[in-house]
Amino acid sequence: MNIEENLNKVRNNIAAAAAESGRDPKEITLIAVTKTHPPEMMNEAIRLGVTDIGENKPQEVRDKFDKVLPVKWHLIGHLQTNKVKYIIDRCVMIHSVDSIKLMDEIERLASAHDKDIDILIQVNISGEATKSGAAPDELEALLEHAGTLSRTHVKGLMTIAPKAEFGDPEIHFKNMKKLFDSLKDRGYKNVEMRELSMGMSGDYEAAVRCGATMVRVGSAIFGARDYGTHDIR
Ligand SMILES: *Cc1c(COP(=O)(O)O)cnc(C)c1O
Repeated sequence: MNIEENLNKVRNNIAAAAAESGRDPKEITLIAVTKTHPPEMMNEAIRLGVTDIGENKPQEVRDKFDKVLPVKWHLIGHLQTNKVKYIIDRCVMIHSVDSIKLMDEIERLASAHDKDIDILIQVNISGEATKSGAAPDELEALLEHAGTLSRTHVKGLMTIAPKAEFGDPEIHFKNMKKLFDSLKDRGYKNVEMRELSMGMSGDYEAAVRCGATMVRVGSAIFGARDYGTHDIR
């Protein structure tokens, strides 16, 4: 397994998918997902130019943070309110916000730490019962609520598509893009529809073709993970 080779391949694929859909590859941020991988591996990727990394467990962010070179950390996995404390000073963005309760706790800690933090609202676009994320018809209430926050800023949407064997992920990505566009210029206070975080190792090219601005890629860069409990879909 060669991180440099894998990274080049992923970058080239992103550029090709962007070109195919008439987009500038610079619009797309590659988030290298490093869950379960040690700091040494993360530092190798950072030395190869990775600027953004994603973790799905708050405790893992806390435990690895001081051993990793300067980089932007993204929390991409489910976040319980009692774990916000592990990441509030460490992450630039939380992708997995799906409740008013969580928004309020992030805001409370951001204020206490005198810092601003960006969040995305996670949407369960496929309606799959096992998925976390807000239902599309719950979005309006969450976006309205953003107007009551001052240190927590909504920058867009995130989704996890079902595995390919449950249908073409492009359908879900296209629906997300439609939803994302429909929420632009709606005048929600403290809400910008700037980032659309979707696409993983198996489907990031499709996501880019459908308008993703952030892709979250783990195993295509770092190889298979050794665990059972991290599977998110
Ligand atoms: C693990 C994970 C990814 C990356 O998964 P790969 O299939 O390894 O690319 C992306 N998004 C979330 C939320 C994850 O937990």
